[in-house]
Amino acid sequence: MSVSETDLAVAREAYAALLAEGLRLDLTRGKPSPEQLDLADGLAGLPEVGDYKAADGTDCRNYGGLNGLPELRAIFADLFQVPAAQLLALGNASLTVMHDVVANALLSPVPGAERRWVEEPEVLFLCPVPGYDRHFSVCERFGIGMVPVPLTGEGPDMDAVEELVAADPRIKGMWCVPKYSNPTGETYSDETVRRLAAMPTAAPDFRLFWDNAYAVHHLTDEPVELVSILDACAEAGNPDRAFVFGSTSKITYAGSGVAFFGSSPANIAWLTGLLAKQTIGPDKVNQLRHVRFFGDTEGVTAHMRLHRALLEPRFEAVYEVLESELGALGIARWTRPEGGYFVSLEVPDGCAAEVVRLAKEVGVALTPAGAAFPNGNDPRDHHIRLAPSYPTVDEVRGAMRAVAVCVKLAAMEAAVKKG
Ligand code: PLP
Repeated sequence: MSVSETDLAVAREAYAALLAEGLRLDLTRGKPSPEQLDLADGLAGLPEVGDYKAADGTDCRNYGGLNGLPELRAIFADLFQVPAAQLLALGNASLTVMHDVVANALLSPVPGAERRWVEEPEVLFLCPVPGYDRHFSVCERFGIGMVPVPLTGEGPDMDAVEELVAADPRIKGMWCVPKYSNPTGETYSDETVRRLAAMPTAAPDFRLFWDNAYAVHHLTDEPVELVSILDACAEAGNPDRAFVFGSTSKITYAGSGVAFFGSSPANIAWLTGLLAKQTIGPDKVNQLRHVRFFGDTEGVTAHMRLHRALLEPRFEAVYEVLESELGALGIARWTRPEGGYFVSLEVPDGCAAEVVRLAKEVGVALTPAGAAFPNGNDPRDHHIRLAPSYPTVDEVRGAMRAVAVCVKLAAMEAAVKKG
């Protein structure tokens, strides 16, 4: 990039003007907006007084029902691509389930394992990057080493993944957000899913941690199709390879929804055997509340259309500003996801942390640069995760205008320094 003194002076002036505005805007976490939460307010009166019985007559107020309400599992089975009999409806958050499944695999051998993971000299997980920071926190918490692999737009670089897992028995797991990924928005291609399901692994107890958090969070008329990982694994002769996770956190209430776990019959038997030591059963009243609210699978799909109507204008505001402010300059690239919650913004190498710092100074909070990489380390310092769901459309626009000014200034300052 060639930068004249005038360009730089204009960029600095624009930044100074922003400073004077005293903005207070936040594009950090991918939370639903209050309007999105309002969509699920019908939950509040459910189940109605006296309506506590599940379809099989179980009184949902009482103990029991470890696997979760069958009728709720039936509603979500197709959406998570897991047969209802192999889908558990659990507590309020899938992150808890992921955390506990890792802890359980460390402490009790998963089907096919020679020993517990805690007895291995070292355990490693593949981490497609950029990825979800809380997955990486789970690894950090348990001392699991993280091996980054690049995402390609169609899922992870499968040549790299196949080579790594075939050669290294320390690699026991891999984090995957297969649909509308956090934060790149990409969906794994059919070929990627099939190769993940079929690839030879040096560890006999290798597991895909298939976090389908955005399974139904479409932003287009034609939802993107994902190959069923459980089917692909079964077809490839690796039926126990995938642990599937999901939740209603961004469907109903984030924090008061229902989490799901799906897998092969052997893995389900393994986990329910361990869960039985931990709990007598999940919150069935909340599960019944969700059954009454949705009615059926189409009820969920219809509800997600209402979310889309609120989310789409926020995403459009992001693109509009990026396009008009940065489109012609060739200093930034961004994703246009067909679903999910995030836009990935790529700025010139070495500039992401500076953009985030500049934005903070003018009152715009962005996710820390590097947060989408293991140990917070983006080796190229080029990636910024944008989360437009929570602020209003005007706030998104205002925040993005500020971000664009910061990107221009950081890129110009870097180019001048380089000479
Ligand atoms: N998985 C991914 C990929 C996410 O982006 C999020 C939330 O941002 C979660 C899981 C959290 O899900 P839950 O609320 O069910 O714990």
